[in-house]
Amino acid sequence: MEKKDIVSMSFEELSKELGEMGLPKFRATQIYDWLHKKCVTSFEEMTNISKDLIKKLNDNFVIFACTIEKKLVSRYDSTVKYLFSLPDGEYLECVVMDYKYGHTICISTQVGCKMGCAFCASGIGGFKRQLTPSEMLSQIYTAQRDLSLRISRIVLMGMGEPLDNFDNVMRFLELVSDERGLNIGMRHISLSTSGIVPRIYDLLDKRLQLTLSVSLHAPNNEIRSKIMPVNKSWDIDELLNACKTYGEETSRRISFEYAMMKGVNDTPECAEELSKRLKGILCHVNLIPANEVPEKGHERSTDNSIVQFKSILEKNGLAVTVRRTLGSDINASCGQLRREKIKEDNK
Ligand code: SAH
Ligand code: SF4
Repeated sequence: MEKKDIVSMSFEELSKELGEMGLPKFRATQIYDWLHKKCVTSFEEMTNISKDLIKKLNDNFVIFACTIEKKLVSRYDSTVKYLFSLPDGEYLECVVMDYKYGHTICISTQVGCKMGCAFCASGIGGFKRQLTPSEMLSQIYTAQRDLSLRISRIVLMGMGEPLDNFDNVMRFLELVSDERGLNIGMRHISLSTSGIVPRIYDLLDKRLQLTLSVSLHAPNNEIRSKIMPVNKSWDIDELLNACKTYGEETSRRISFEYAMMKGVNDTPECAEELSKRLKGILCHVNLIPANEVPEKGHERSTDNSIVQFKSILEKNGLAVTVRRTLGSDINASCGQLRREKIKEDNK
């Protein structure tokens, strides 16, 4: 019998499983607390549980935990990047950043990615598999334990497209925001999508108080379809309509991500066109100096063109920030560390 993934279970599922094993209700509360508050990695660490029960739990369940394969600490700021290995030989990345309002973790939701964006390292080598809720949680639990700190914010902006792993991501959100677990409020969680429009409406139906980030990266279909294949399935108008509805119905400001690439999407004309497109949408634009990925060939926009682009958006009444590049010495952007490790393994 295959052992069940106990960390991915909701409290209700766990209670039911343990009930079927003849255990009283309080055991579910105890075990859930060990798994999601104390974040243990073995049943043996559960000190208020008898040896007999530990054996039963070991016979029926596994506690998933990532293994730290590599850990890089930035010399410039305290950004930490992890490469984790999974039991099936796959690799995952996550980054912990120290912002003035607390520690933020950027986690992965898939191994690889199907979406094929022209500028992104995550999709190199294609899509491998979905991550389970426990594999998403374990990135946080492992980093917290290793760094002896408490994570207070989560961004789903690592490797993978979270809305292409919808059910597992929803379960992850339920577990991580549960008062009986880490209890990270939805307002402290951001989910970033490349724009799978039907799933944005599904997310809206959940009425979660999280921040929706949308990777826009272009002011029109011509440019966007060249760099983001997803645009051929759902174009900018469909995407922005979904964003508008999302903003209106949740009263939450959407954050548009815009990676600045030299000669691709960074001209003053692009800034004017983008301003027109975003008129009337409750939003904020986050300009990201693009990370250069050797295989992809794009170049980062110059500081001057980023400043000019920002000022045009601002003149047109948009709220704009330029993302600080944290951990620039440790390749702290998604997919790059895994890409290097795979190359190394194939040598
Ligand atoms: N798949 C989701 C979330 C993960 S990517 C999405 O695409 O939104 C997280 C963010 O990093 C996205 O905004 C993505 O477009 C951006 N990104 C990917 N590669 C990048 C690069 N080379 N430079 C700058 N931003 C990049
Ligand atoms: Fe996937 Fe996001 Fe990278 Fe596009 S930018 S390939 S959707 S991870």
